[in-house]
Amino acid sequence: MTVVTSPPPLDRMPVTKLKGVGDKVADKLAPLGISNVQDVLFHLPLRYQDRTRLRQVGTLRAGEEAVVDLVIDAADVVFRRRRTLLCRASDNSGSLTLRFFHFSQAQAKSLKRGVCIRCFSEVRRGPAGLEMVHPEYSFIESDAELEDSLTAIYPTTEGVHQLTLRKLTDQALHLLTADRVRDWIPPALLSQYGFPDLAEALQTVHRPPSDIDIPSLIEGSHPALQRLAIEELIAHRLGLQLQRLQRQQDLAPSIQPAGKLSRQLLADLGFELTRAQSRVVSEIVESMQSTQPMLRLLQGDVGAGKTVVAALAAANAVEAGMQVAIMAPTEILAEQHLLNFIEWFEPMQIEIGWLSGKLGVKARRSAIEAVAMGRSRIVVGTHALFQDDVEFERLGLAIIDEQHRFGVHQRMALRNKGATAGFVPHQLIMTATPIPRTLAMTAYADLDCSIIDELPPGRKPVQTIALEAARRAEVAERVAAAIAEGRQVYWVCTLIEESESLQAQAAEDAANQLSEAMPETRIGLVHGRLKSKDKERVMQAFKQRELELLVATTVIEVGVDVPNASLMVIENAERLGLSQLHQLRGRVGRGQAQSTCILLYQGPLSHNAKQRIGIMRETNDGFVIAEKDLEIRGAGEVLGTRQTGATEFKIADLGRDAGLLTTVAVVADQLQSEHPDCVTALIRRWIGEQKREYGSV
Ligand code: ADP
Ligand code: MG
Repeated sequence: MTVVTSPPPLDRMPVTKLKGVGDKVADKLAPLGISNVQDVLFHLPLRYQDRTRLRQVGTLRAGEEAVVDLVIDAADVVFRRRRTLLCRASDNSGSLTLRFFHFSQAQAKSLKRGVCIRCFSEVRRGPAGLEMVHPEYSFIESDAELEDSLTAIYPTTEGVHQLTLRKLTDQALHLLTADRVRDWIPPALLSQYGFPDLAEALQTVHRPPSDIDIPSLIEGSHPALQRLAIEELIAHRLGLQLQRLQRQQDLAPSIQPAGKLSRQLLADLGFELTRAQSRVVSEIVESMQSTQPMLRLLQGDVGAGKTVVAALAAANAVEAGMQVAIMAPTEILAEQHLLNFIEWFEPMQIEIGWLSGKLGVKARRSAIEAVAMGRSRIVVGTHALFQDDVEFERLGLAIIDEQHRFGVHQRMALRNKGATAGFVPHQLIMTATPIPRTLAMTAYADLDCSIIDELPPGRKPVQTIALEAARRAEVAERVAAAIAEGRQVYWVCTLIEESESLQAQAAEDAANQLSEAMPETRIGLVHGRLKSKDKERVMQAFKQRELELLVATTVIEVGVDVPNASLMVIENAERLGLSQLHQLRGRVGRGQAQSTCILLYQGPLSHNAKQRIGIMRETNDGFVIAEKDLEIRGAGEVLGTRQTGATEFKIADLGRDAGLLTTVAVVADQLQSEHPDCVTALIRRWIGEQKREYGSV
């Protein structure tokens, strides 16, 4: 008798079944949420490169990515600030420069005059015309073949190369048949929207054929992407619903507003709360009285004064005998909160604990002990707060700053951590990224909302100017003038790159140029490649005015508070989205002085870039900016990158896909009642093991 066994579903096939994946590679894939073959398929591209067409140098423009075939005309190793290999190379339509900072002797030798190479890279404007910095290249025969589908670029992590991910997806796609990955979307819906089935959609999204409608792929309006987006949105809705159900069964400590501590805190502040701050404080205090755990999103524009609201909520919880945890996404921000809370609470003999990833073993042990024994009434920290060995005596309130950096799964982890003696803590989540109301209702359906819609008095709106990059010298003069007046200045270098080292390089270059132009000025540099200790040291020095000018990458984006800084220069502003520009600009305008933000851009501007810069000049209102952002992006913003960090979605985009949301709600509810088994399967597929909190418990 022969037994016919059907092949196992791909979510039951460990990733180690794929060629080239041993335990070591599997360990590296784990942080990407990849543990089985289905996970590989749902690890979706971030963006695409077009390597299907050979371009002529003469037709290239800065900012494009292109494949070109070149002959090297000259090559030279020069010693500027650092050893650099420069090649001049051309095709029959024009020439450009290839620039290498890291290269071996052999490499330098091989790139010599007369050699033919095929290069792929972004094209930039350099000192002597267009250039490619560290292009990918290969030595070619004539007529070497080009790619026949667009090249997917995957989100990745330390030690996992794009090529590895590409090889794995190739294998997984090969195994993909309709019976091995369950398609939960009802066929009627697929045909109503003209959506492909799941297998076909995955195939298209991973390996878009070269004749695909590229704009629709980049914008995300292509049916294959929409097909996946709707499924992802359904998965998230199911997840939120499940979470809300669970939460309603949880019990939180009821915190009565005694008010002595908060009265004292208010008296010591040195300023009056704004009306909006008082309103949200009462909203928070009221929800904390309930035995149902609060889950409240506190929205307030940058500089609106969320910290003091958090402190007042904390005061109430502490007075009720509860502990409070405050978590920030970076060391710098966490430390800033620490300093504030020490200043506010230590006079009242309330001990503040500190838990960061950087504590030494001994310090960490004693901090953890103080938390466990309940000596630390308020604990400030980073992710280190939700590590396994941290146990609270009686956590009553968890405050999470800048929620979009953390994500649902992390805030759930903190909730579970606080679940002592049958109680879960109340949660307050603070965000400076305003969320348009329509979206808030969908994306945060499980949260209550409080909004600080008013800035503290006396703030002068930041004046915003846009200047073409060619006028850099003028800008440097303004920087010098501001510093001469005793002000401090941010200079932000932005590059949209996968490579942190190129970003860091750009910032280093800018810092060097500025220090040549202004030798007297005390200049600091922070970028993502610095050790966090060094980063903090520089930030601290800037806060304490030891530095006058801070050159930085977008690492300073969130929450840093230096009121004396009144000028910010943002390079390549045309490449940033509205919300990111707004976040950056929020670093100035925090003190009494009139502040200015200079957006430097490389012309010519695209239509959308022009709109974005126009909006930044017109308004300082984060909510207006968020609405406009949605409008522009809804209208098909083409950045080529999905800002996965900003949302928690792999492929859906709440702005772009707003039109799908009603359907999402209907289908999710239908699936839930007709196929309850889909709930965990879809959540696992899209949200993964890390967020198991959603499903299990
Ligand atoms: P954000 O909402 O961006 O976190 P912060 O809490 O850092 O803002 O507050 C920004 C600055 O405004 C801080 O220096 C804070 O002390 C100050 N501030 C907050 N509320 C008020 C107020 N009502 N009046 C005056 N200054 C305030
Ligand atoms: Mg803040």
